[in-house]
Amino acid sequence: MSAAISNKPVIQLRDLAKTYQTGEVEVKAVRGITLDIDRGDFVAIMGASGSGKSTLMNMLGCLDQPTSGSYLLDDIAVAGLGRKDLAKLRNKKIGFVFQSFNLLARTSALENVELPMFYSHPLTSLRDRRQRALQALQQVGLGDRLSHHTSQLSGGQQQRIAIARALINRPELVLADEPTGNLDTRTSIEIMGLFQELNESGITLIMVTHELDIAAYCKRIVVMRDGRVISDTRNEARRSARDEIVKLDQAEQKAKLA
Ligand code: ADP
Ligand code: MG
Repeated sequence: MSAAISNKPVIQLRDLAKTYQTGEVEVKAVRGITLDIDRGDFVAIMGASGSGKSTLMNMLGCLDQPTSGSYLLDDIAVAGLGRKDLAKLRNKKIGFVFQSFNLLARTSALENVELPMFYSHPLTSLRDRRQRALQALQQVGLGDRLSHHTSQLSGGQQQRIAIARALINRPELVLADEPTGNLDTRTSIEIMGLFQELNESGITLIMVTHELDIAAYCKRIVVMRDGRVISDTRNEARRSARDEIVKLDQAEQKAKLA
């Protein structure tokens, strides 16, 4: 492959800042963040509402440009790119997962997952698209729900579909903004288990959460306040979602027998 695959950090931020101008009012949403994220890391971004997490994620995801500072994604200077190149880079390297799933309701799981490929690989045949979507759905454990409409599925299943959709272009980076915010405890652990699996397969993950319980599954925890990083620590006591699901299942079995 190209020189882009190196052991340099996949993300290098230098004094990254974003100021929103709304009429007379200036909001400094991100105020100078310097941060490296290594390939294969799994980072939780925490912080109170309004601390700039989503603004940072939008810049990381090449959805929005910084006001100042630099962002290297795989050594590519993102801050200098125009809209078209930005979109290209995004399609090639990044998958997104949101709190509210953002799926089309009266549309099958398979079609939802295929959708990003219409933009990123417009010349790919329907058959190849189907094949890729099928693989992605199998990867998230939904190989048996292909033709179900998303509105017929549970929240956890919908989030799995959204994750499959994020994987369709084989991104090296997945960004998730509060992915478990709408899920119950057990389903949240299952989704974190899926993220841990994807991370083990080599995908770099960055996830916003305001729950410490959820951040505990990540490898690194970055805390923001007022647009700045106020703490950045390795998570030495990382939880394993897979182990916890096994334990939950055992406890449930026991309760049934008792
Ligand atoms: P968080 O995700 O941590 O809750 P945000 O990044 O959404 O924080 O917001 C950080 C600050 O920037 C807040 O004060 C918010 O009101 C402001 N902000 C976010 N997006 C915009 C926007 N598009 N226009 C103006 N202000 C914004
Ligand atoms: Mg937010």
